[in-house]
Amino acid sequence: MVSRVIPVDPFDLVIFGGTGDLARRKILPGLFRRFCAGQMGAESRIIGAARTDLNTQSYRDFAKDAVREFEPGGAKNAKHLKGFLELLDYVVVDAKGTQGWSDLTKAVRDDVIRAYYFSVGPSLFDDLAERLHKHKLDCPGCRIVVEKPFGHDLASAQELNQIIAKYFDEHQIYRIDHYLGKETVQNLMAIRFGNMLFEPLWNSQYIDHIQLTVAEEVGVGGRGEYYDRSGAMRDMLQNHLMQLLCLIAMEPPAKFNPDAVRDEKLKVIRALDEVAPDDVVRGQYEAAHDQAGFREQVGNPDSTTESFVAMRAHISNWRWAGTPFYLRTGKRLRERASEIAVVFKDAPHSIFDVEAGVHRNILTIKLQPNEGIELGVTIKEPGPGGMRLVDVPLDMTFAEALGPEEADFPDAYERLIMDVIRGNQTLFMRGDEVEAAWAWTDPIIAGWQERGEAPLPYASGSSGPDDALMLMHRDGRRWREIKA
Ligand code: NAD
Repeated sequence: MVSRVIPVDPFDLVIFGGTGDLARRKILPGLFRRFCAGQMGAESRIIGAARTDLNTQSYRDFAKDAVREFEPGGAKNAKHLKGFLELLDYVVVDAKGTQGWSDLTKAVRDDVIRAYYFSVGPSLFDDLAERLHKHKLDCPGCRIVVEKPFGHDLASAQELNQIIAKYFDEHQIYRIDHYLGKETVQNLMAIRFGNMLFEPLWNSQYIDHIQLTVAEEVGVGGRGEYYDRSGAMRDMLQNHLMQLLCLIAMEPPAKFNPDAVRDEKLKVIRALDEVAPDDVVRGQYEAAHDQAGFREQVGNPDSTTESFVAMRAHISNWRWAGTPFYLRTGKRLRERASEIAVVFKDAPHSIFDVEAGVHRNILTIKLQPNEGIELGVTIKEPGPGGMRLVDVPLDMTFAEALGPEEADFPDAYERLIMDVIRGNQTLFMRGDEVEAAWAWTDPIIAGWQERGEAPLPYASGSSGPDDALMLMHRDGRRWREIKA
């Protein structure tokens, strides 16, 4: 199949925090892959800007190591690697001081697209935005990319939005949620709105419930201090799971353009009911074998932060009244596996004498570790022996359907960075969406604090606390097994 990579126009991408972990693991290797794919040409520049005392040559060495570590296959192509490294520049910049700003002014060009990636902690956003303005680097066509965490609660998110809005318009701001950059997540929109088949059934009349699971096998690792302040609710549910929920539940936008899509997502968040205390379960993983437990890992023996959260949510609108959404996410679970499962209702009348709830159509959108979409359908078991039913998957795994070249997708970061350069905000969160998500989340967290609730312990490698299983059992439903 012929490659459909469409090259982007030349650009200058300034990565503030260009020597940090995110730049090393995701941004630089991602850009390298896009370079190899022919999506960005030799006229583009990537300018690392950080406090670290490097020069262009040592930054290229840093990037070379990053690419070799995180994109080892591609890095074997010496020509590609050399070509990519030649795009790199470096400026020592102090976000809080004066150092480097005039050098940065000289390093960027006026006749190409320009984007600033704020790959630094949010406490530096104010300083960066202000200095960009002061040094006349905030041109009207410039874009800025900001990373999660976008606020800690509604008040801090509003403050961050206001800080950025002082110098940049909403159409210049790209708030990254990398879950939206996943191929399958976009395919969800194609499946919903590009086919006649699903949309007529996409409501509470035909859908029994929807499950969203983002399960991680790892613990908090080196991010203990941050995570103890954040927890699963703020770190994962308020943003990633909420974004997935929006795409699943939104009304068809009139057009596939950024504001039309984001308007519909916002309506979903605003239609979410308050969550009753009984509809949320929090958990915290215990020590196992040679692995430390959560409290030990975050260095806080009294921590009441959750490493797991599960909940039942309701969307009060005509489409979804009566269809619960079950969401769960956590660390140190059985496997790393993320999926959305749309569980359809039983056929209204069974002519095959089968038990209720046994044969159901389930549309599964798998996000991790492998992406793919599967539709479970019920058919006759082949062969003699009468009409025995069996469920089989209609697998829409892209690699098989489209051939290996098409299936070599850009990863989420690469795709989103290219969208920034193209000026397409569809897959980025708008400020009002982020605030609405916090407005819904804040009272849930406040409720835990008021009631002095501690998370329930759960065994590492399990599916979370038993109470999370009960959350569905009491509705006569069950979670799907967490498996890769
Ligand atoms: P990091 O601590 O590894 O790197 C921070 C970078 O900021 C370094 O390059 C450092 O030199 C630079 N910096 C710090 N103070 C500076 C100053 N005064 N002036 C100029 N540069 C300064 O952080 P990270 O893990 O790369 O994360 C960056 C941001 O991305 C954070 O907001 C983080 O929450 C977010 N994020 C990171 C990841 C990840 O996987 N690392 C994932 C999602 C979001």
